[in-house]
Amino acid sequence: MRAAILSNGRFSVDTVPDPTPEPKAVVLSVSACGLCGTDHSIYSNRLLENGAILGHELAGTVVEVGRGVREWTAGDRAAVVPIPYCGRCELCTSGKQNLCGPGLAAMMGCGGAPGGLAEFVSAPVSSLRRLPGMLEPRLGALVEPLAVAWHAVRLGNIRPGTRVGVLGLGPLGLFAGLIARQKGALVFGTDYRAHRVAGAHALGLGAFTADDQPDDRIRDLTRGGPEVVFEASGRPESIERAAHLARVGGSVVLVASYHSPAEMTPGHWFNRGISLLPSIAYTQTDFEEALDAIATRRIDVGPLVIQPRPLDDVQAVFDSFSTQTDAVKLVIDPSV
Ligand SMILES: [Zn+2]
Ligand SMILES: [Zn+2]
Repeated sequence: MRAAILSNGRFSVDTVPDPTPEPKAVVLSVSACGLCGTDHSIYSNRLLENGAILGHELAGTVVEVGRGVREWTAGDRAAVVPIPYCGRCELCTSGKQNLCGPGLAAMMGCGGAPGGLAEFVSAPVSSLRRLPGMLEPRLGALVEPLAVAWHAVRLGNIRPGTRVGVLGLGPLGLFAGLIARQKGALVFGTDYRAHRVAGAHALGLGAFTADDQPDDRIRDLTRGGPEVVFEASGRPESIERAAHLARVGGSVVLVASYHSPAEMTPGHWFNRGISLLPSIAYTQTDFEEALDAIATRRIDVGPLVIQPRPLDDVQAVFDSFSTQTDAVKLVIDPSV
């Protein structure tokens, strides 16, 4: 099969042996694989050894089943939960699966099993979640990142009428905004990139550019600040900004990952009673609820996806990753 192989900090599309179905596993033909900041961080910081195949946001069609597989047959379509939760640690058994150390360390496409930037992948039956036949494949690849936002919105305890701010309107910020709105929240976002603000407007979300005095506008529109601010920009300095934007007694949910220190004023957080809620990954329930929201079109993520690109474009996509300004989700279709 063809696969985008990471070697010495570059991708090359090579032919490698097809995966064979192991017991209690299937081989999927990958129909779409999304790329995100996690992939970019692995790539730019050279976190994986030569020969790795990235891709943890994937959907595909079953082409072969291994021994002992009864519930799946060729032609079935599935999204893959890429985290192999151990199911035994104290986090897995106390409702905090999303923090399972062995699971996160062995995440598919992120240091664990080979990922979805290939024509085929092997995936254990326990990782498969059925996709309805009519769903476009590229939407199946969005279940995983939607699950990340789903978990963040759940941590934020969003209810009808909750006032919400979103800092950073990339795919994760937009997903969080869309889910919060679907739960009845009043949502306002901001991004310094005008394209992304326009993308938020196209999805019907209130959003402001840096030139609009966004924090003042959001504070006015929410009469004193949001109860919940999602920090989705990944900029460390934005965490303190989120605490200033939130209303007294509110919370800041971190839905990005951060790679450098941030300056914070603990007294400000303390005196105003602002909670900090880091949201990493998702539980199986978050994943299943996100899938259901996409399948039933309660959350319409379609406008966020551009035409999927072929495997041969993977290097070009990573080259332009940091300069990409549109509010779009990057998706590769390895079958073309
Ligand atoms: Zn991702
Ligand atoms: Zn565990």
